[in-house]
Amino acid sequence: MTSDIHDRLLTLDSHIDIPWPDRNDFAAGSSDRQVDLPKLRAGGLKAVCLAAYIPQGRLEAEERQRAWVRAQDMLVVINGLQSDDVAVCSRVAMLLEALSAGRVAVVPAVENGHALGGDLTRLDHLAASGVRYMTLTHNGHNDLADAAIPLPALGNEPSLHGGLSALGREAIARMNALGILVDVSHAAKTTMMQAAELSRQPIIASHSCARALCDHPRNLDDEQLLRLRDTGGVIQITAMSSFLKRATEGKASVDDLARHVRYVADRIGVAHVGVSSDFDGGGQIIGWSDAASSAAVTDALLRAGFAEHDVAAIWGENFLRVLAQAEVA
Ligand SMILES: [Zn+2]
Repeated sequence: MTSDIHDRLLTLDSHIDIPWPDRNDFAAGSSDRQVDLPKLRAGGLKAVCLAAYIPQGRLEAEERQRAWVRAQDMLVVINGLQSDDVAVCSRVAMLLEALSAGRVAVVPAVENGHALGGDLTRLDHLAASGVRYMTLTHNGHNDLADAAIPLPALGNEPSLHGGLSALGREAIARMNALGILVDVSHAAKTTMMQAAELSRQPIIASHSCARALCDHPRNLDDEQLLRLRDTGGVIQITAMSSFLKRATEGKASVDDLARHVRYVADRIGVAHVGVSSDFDGGGQIIGWSDAASSAAVTDALLRAGFAEHDVAAIWGENFLRVLAQAEVA
């Protein structure tokens, strides 16, 4: 019964990393990656956002250049996944067409605005590479904004810009114009609230959880959830154990994930919540250890009392609505 429901759903995982350096093992699959084509097929996971993740370095010319080179290299790999079985999609219509043809859809993304190396004209290159969202930061402040988690090893004080920098504000305007969603996962609360104020398009949190249930700086508190809702955006509850429950309470499970989804749905509406794994980037919880076990998420959402149409909204429809809304005509 459940597997029938799962098979009918348009399942989209909004945040997955790729192993780096690339090993060219996506199509054939590998036991040491959580997401590859065989596991997506086995788990009935139909669409994935694959992120080019750029670690935060020092805000110096050489490190900025290194970040930009890596971002381009990673996007070449993500776009190179295109095959008879895989469609790299930059628009929702392309994605729907791919799924109806039985292909897996890949949506490119960037994790960390440091990728730009401080040059906003590079956003045009990202858009041309199909990128549909970019997190403003990772851990550690960058040229665009303050992060939720400062990195003392990089010399970070608690705040660098008081939220967004002037460049960060410009970046948001340019991202809006290019159809690249502003992702506030990893951003400081100040950054997030200012971005929500500024953006003409919905704000997303591609992989974060509810702070009211787990007091972690990577999670969004109730005030942030309401602000995110007001932009028309979506928060994608993620399979990171430390964001779902305290370590002293043990490892989190799919039921903890569903508990966070339920909390957010009750607070701001089921239209503003989704799910993500953060696989190959640290995500892994009991019951959802790789893409092959994705049906367990559907089971947990049904156990949490969601109707099938709600599960469909959570698994993909909400995120696709936001993607479509931000698309450039
Ligand atoms: Zn992340």
